[in-house]
Amino acid sequence: MEIINKLNEKLKDVSTLDVIEFFLKGYKNKIALASSLGAEDQVLTDMILKTNKDTKIFTLDTGRLNPETYNVMDATNLKYSVKLDVYFPKLENVEKLYKTQGVNGHFESIDNRKNCCNIRKIEPLKRALEGLDVWFTGLRSSQSVTREDMKLVEWDEAFGLIKVNPLINWNEEDVWTYIKENSVPYNKLHDQGYPSIGCAPCTRAVKDGEDIRAGRWWWENPEHKECGLHKK
Ligand code: SF4
Repeated sequence: MEIINKLNEKLKDVSTLDVIEFFLKGYKNKIALASSLGAEDQVLTDMILKTNKDTKIFTLDTGRLNPETYNVMDATNLKYSVKLDVYFPKLENVEKLYKTQGVNGHFESIDNRKNCCNIRKIEPLKRALEGLDVWFTGLRSSQSVTREDMKLVEWDEAFGLIKVNPLINWNEEDVWTYIKENSVPYNKLHDQGYPSIGCAPCTRAVKDGEDIRAGRWWWENPEHKECGLHKK
């Protein structure tokens, strides 16, 4: 898409903060950060709120989050004097999900797992993105084999808007240096070895040297390991 190519060309040597400022200025009330409350999203939350405190930052409360995730949500609201937007799944969908596949049916098949992700994440995400032109994500290209070909700016075919990945070229050390230098609240699950933050039953710590993909849906093959939020 022409506009995406132009934006990537224009912003190719621009700093992360300048990329954020560029989009916040250009898209004002039509832009948001989707936060999992993991380390990368906390970096972006800090940068975004320091640039424009009124920017929409939202998270998806799937109903299956860890207590540590609620704690960092609370700490973030307190530090920045904001209230992050929270989107919940629809009650009737969760009740139906329970009736059809039980509490932990997502372990039984990929279809069940995707069904759970659709109800608890994708449908609320669609509502959160309604009316927006751009969404920021905290994806880094080195996080996954499925993300190697990602770009700073992409057209998100699934949700019909521009997707911006300001941390695309950051490594893990960059993320933690920023968090420490700026006293950014972070999810304490990372101290226990969690590389990413997600639902409690489907996310776990990895051992030193273990692939970070082992931290999510470890019972599935790598090519299935996206939930539909990000196709790459
Ligand atoms: S990550 Fe697991 S618990 Fe969370 S929505 Fe997907 S399948 Fe359900």
